[in-house]
Amino acid sequence: MTALPAGWRDGEIAIIGLAKSGSGAATLLARAGARVYASDIGQQAALEAVAAELRLLGVDVETGGHNLERIARAKLVVASPGVPPDAPPLAAARNAGITVVSEIEVALRLMDNTRIIAVTGTNGKTTTTALVGHLLRAIGVTAIDAGNIGTPLSEVALHAHPSWIALEMSSFQLHDTPGLDPTVGVVTNLSPDHLDRYQGVDDYYADKAMLFRNASSHSRWVLNADDDEVLNLAMRGAATSGYHEYTKPTPGKTHLFSLENRECEAYYDRERDALVVLEEVLLRREELSLFGDHNVANALAASLAVMIADPDYATNEVRPRIAEGLRSFRALKHRLEVAGEYNGVLWINDSKATNVSSTLVAIQGMTRPTILLLGGRHKGEPYTALAEPFRRVGKRVLAYGEAAPIIESDLGGMVPVERLGSSFPEVIARASEIAESGDTVLLSPACSSYDMFRNYEERGADFKRLATRMP
Ligand code: ADP
Repeated sequence: MTALPAGWRDGEIAIIGLAKSGSGAATLLARAGARVYASDIGQQAALEAVAAELRLLGVDVETGGHNLERIARAKLVVASPGVPPDAPPLAAARNAGITVVSEIEVALRLMDNTRIIAVTGTNGKTTTTALVGHLLRAIGVTAIDAGNIGTPLSEVALHAHPSWIALEMSSFQLHDTPGLDPTVGVVTNLSPDHLDRYQGVDDYYADKAMLFRNASSHSRWVLNADDDEVLNLAMRGAATSGYHEYTKPTPGKTHLFSLENRECEAYYDRERDALVVLEEVLLRREELSLFGDHNVANALAASLAVMIADPDYATNEVRPRIAEGLRSFRALKHRLEVAGEYNGVLWINDSKATNVSSTLVAIQGMTRPTILLLGGRHKGEPYTALAEPFRRVGKRVLAYGEAAPIIESDLGGMVPVERLGSSFPEVIARASEIAESGDTVLLSPACSSYDMFRNYEERGADFKRLATRMP
């Protein structure tokens, strides 16, 4: 393990939240010799067990609350991803001018010799990150998928020494990870999102631009050439004084992927129906077992990122292994995942589509008459952009949950919309009633799930369970 950074040696480091990532960061820091105070609002048995283990390492642990004055005197604060930015301990730290970092920052500073392919963007982060990790392992090198995808990087740092990390970074994590300096950085696409947590779209994009904050001539960037916002973002780099201020183009080498443009290093050749990477066909489209062109874009981004990560990864010997990796990759849960086909009706679970742009690509990937389940907690964007593409395959929109009235007023009159309440079993039963053999029922809600479920996973699992019971 690398030595504790100089600035972290004197004074206390406060860790807020003791779930997997918080306890991982606390363990790493304590082992490296830092003085650590860790606190969590909870007091359940599992948490107390974690607290007891950390105390053995010399961590001062408090459960059932936080000492805000102590946090305000800390040298550094480490925030768990589950703690909202306006929670009192984080507000106390920020008001006192204490630097707040993510657990990823802690792990990065204490890990030896691990190279990173970091993936961000509005949609497709998890799929692309999983593809990157899968392709690296297909080549035969050790790689672990971490970050926003679910495994905290500090857990990885504690238990493994892979050659590579496929690291998914959300905008919030980018904001709080000043030390991120990936070998390759990937931006899948950009569109408005999280308007419930950001003042405006510029603030959201400014956090995404933090991917470039340590860019140097060694950096390699894989960017979506079909997305002007992505190209713009890279042109501006990480502005230190706000996104509106022009800084200078991002240093490093840029590698582009596209679904249209044959001048890019990775592109989709529609005529040959093939994915072309670094001037040669890598794979035929039909060999990829994923719905929708957006997943072709994800596959192009991941392949290109891996192939430019190291000169040895683009040789004629390695290319077939990458192609084989693409062939064996399967859709992740809740992302255009086939839930089943019952009486000729195909049920597709895309519960992870929590914004309008991801629902848009889901609709575009549909080929059969479609009943769309749209709704949940409204996140701020209008739904009007869905009307036009929905007309091509759409039978009816079933609008449900808190967002139902907004969906009805945005889409009603343009496409058939039926407004329902907040009982998910009733929504599924209604879909089943309307659906005829040959149709698709698509759950791609464009909203968060929090009005009716704990999270999108629970929503997707309920959808699958209820669908199997339909006559
Ligand atoms: P993220 O981690 O960024 O949320 P996921 O890979 O989990 O991305 O996919 C979430 C949803 O976004 C999917 O259900 C799909 O509908 C949509 N999506 C995936 N990849 C893309 C893409 N490249 N462009 C647009 N939408 C996408």
